[in-house]
Amino acid sequence: MAESLRLLIVVDGLRAADVDSPAMPYVASLRDSGTSYQRAVAAFPSLTRSNAAALATGFGPGNLGVLGNRVWVGGEGVLNTGTVSDVRRLRDGGAMPHPSIPERLARLGLSTVVVGNGSAGCTELLNMGAAAGHGSAISSLPEREVFTSVAAGLLAELEALGEPPADDNGSLDWAVAAAVTVIATQRPDLMIFWCGQPDVANHATGLRSAEHRAALQHADRLVKQLHTAGLAGGECDLIVTSDHGFCDVGESLPVDAEIASLIFRYGLNDGDLVLTANSGALFGYFASTVAGHRRRAVVEELAHAEWAGAVFCADVDCPPTAFPMSTVVGGGSPLVPDVIITTRVETGKAEDGAAVALAMDVRLGGAPTSRGIHGTVDAADLAIPLILHGPSFTAATQQSAPAGPADVAVTLHLLIAGEELADADGRVLRESLRHSAETNPEVVAQNVERGGTLLRMLRCDDRSYLLGATPTRI
Ligand SMILES: [Zn+2]
Repeated sequence: MAESLRLLIVVDGLRAADVDSPAMPYVASLRDSGTSYQRAVAAFPSLTRSNAAALATGFGPGNLGVLGNRVWVGGEGVLNTGTVSDVRRLRDGGAMPHPSIPERLARLGLSTVVVGNGSAGCTELLNMGAAAGHGSAISSLPEREVFTSVAAGLLAELEALGEPPADDNGSLDWAVAAAVTVIATQRPDLMIFWCGQPDVANHATGLRSAEHRAALQHADRLVKQLHTAGLAGGECDLIVTSDHGFCDVGESLPVDAEIASLIFRYGLNDGDLVLTANSGALFGYFASTVAGHRRRAVVEELAHAEWAGAVFCADVDCPPTAFPMSTVVGGGSPLVPDVIITTRVETGKAEDGAAVALAMDVRLGGAPTSRGIHGTVDAADLAIPLILHGPSFTAATQQSAPAGPADVAVTLHLLIAGEELADADGRVLRESLRHSAETNPEVVAQNVERGGTLLRMLRCDDRSYLLGATPTRI
């Protein structure tokens, strides 16, 4: 049993601003009494699985090759990283080349348990070693084995909880009960808890709905339950964060006809350009036979589409209206798309007069409409809460340095294993460690403008952080 429990709770789709809601008093109290990052951001693309993989490993999406929820891999086709089988095919295709934090800890004889009601693929990404016995995974979603590599003594107690319910909130409550049981009986060195709400409510009903507010209350309650369980057995370091923020939907637009027309006009054949829909971003993959000048022309036209926001293109083929991919996606994975078209976001007004980010809900292949989306470069999608609370962290401190999911992973690894991951993309958040002599790191603004968009970026400890974007063209 670990003396000190490290508990990472990821609340899917929780916006930084949600912590100010009256629905989240417990998380707000953690923020005020612990360390809170005012400029914490999701890794780009601001999607679930790209950030889950970064949280699991300490590496960024460009090194991991896990860029989003629907990705294309040569020889495999389009993969859905929400499913276990497709995550494993993606890894076989070269993604996730580094061991995850749970796998690294297992090699040192330290234990990790991942529990959650995120998608089956998400739970898989959080600890790909669980199937091989490197830590355990417990998933309350029906399309996956519920228990992976759970110790026999614990299994009997967990089975007493009965079958996980099929509905989102029921499965979440079941996951909390399972996590509390694990903490009380096994007390692992690291527990990662993935809370699938408010993401589900935000997509389906928007950010001003009763369902959104109920989901925040639910998340707040479970953070308290898990933290209380952690404290009952000794010291507990708790990190609360999310994988991305959210935008409201302004306009919903099917783009199949426009894309088909573009493919026809450029004389592209079937399969020359594969597009995959990722909420607020479209990923594009060119066939190797499409020459550079044609790629540039196609990307140029996509960047001018009325629904497009910032566009990112493989550096070698990048036209002046798009950003080179390396601006926001570092690393050399061959699985990085050739082009990422984020959807346009405008500032609008809610019924109560509050300013809101309104994103274009760009749909492909008859996808249903959403009331909320994420995946754009808008600050609403990128800003996330990051709260560190417990004996290892400074108390009642607000940090202005930027931070992100890869940083959380390497900081947890240092705390638990006592050693640094020298080769990782993330930086140790030393400025927040109670017994560190480090002062605040130097932070330098690094803005970049292309094609009518200004990307607001910060440079800190040799890492770049994308904070948001501002349109410069009217
Ligand atoms: Zn998510």
